[in-house]
Amino acid sequence: MKRKTSSNSPTDELGGIKDSPFLVSGCLLGIGCRYDGGTCPSSGLIRFASSASLIPICPEQLGGLSTPRPSATITGGDGDDVLSGCARVVNQEGKDVTDAYKRGAEESLRLARLTGARIALLRERSPSCGLSTPYCEGKSGIGRGVTAALLHSSGIKVFGILPEDDFPSPDLFELIKGRGWDQSN
Ligand code: SF4
Repeated sequence: MKRKTSSNSPTDELGGIKDSPFLVSGCLLGIGCRYDGGTCPSSGLIRFASSASLIPICPEQLGGLSTPRPSATITGGDGDDVLSGCARVVNQEGKDVTDAYKRGAEESLRLARLTGARIALLRERSPSCGLSTPYCEGKSGIGRGVTAALLHSSGIKVFGILPEDDFPSPDLFELIKGRGWDQSN
């Protein structure tokens, strides 16, 4: 006889998400993929990396952009609007880099699909990775970056990470406790 399981546990609600690997913004792991060639490491995330299954990504590099590269902003909306064709990404030199940003988002999603990743830990504020980036013309002055928007709309659970913040946040802790992360970390 099948045992009845509680529908209220986090695992049930998230449909097995707790077992998935994580997509992670490479710059948060200390990889120098930022637009200026720099990095923005999260020490807590780096500790987590030693025992977790992580897939580092840099959507801007995956989209074919070089490092270093001019910084860019989303004009005419946010990442969701870029994906629907209503907004563009323009770099500091005035060059339209929309296609590269969209390609990077699609390649990131491809990696998520290939690896079974259903959680993404992305650098907050980036026009690519940010869950709420100010580098856009979103309705409230902030909006999702292009990759964050595509992953979110594709059913990937996205968490915005700032290197200066404590890692993990309480909601993220619920997903990673016992998976290479305990209260003692
Ligand atoms: S925030 Fe995302 S796109 Fe920007 S450098 Fe980091 S990984 Fe690359």
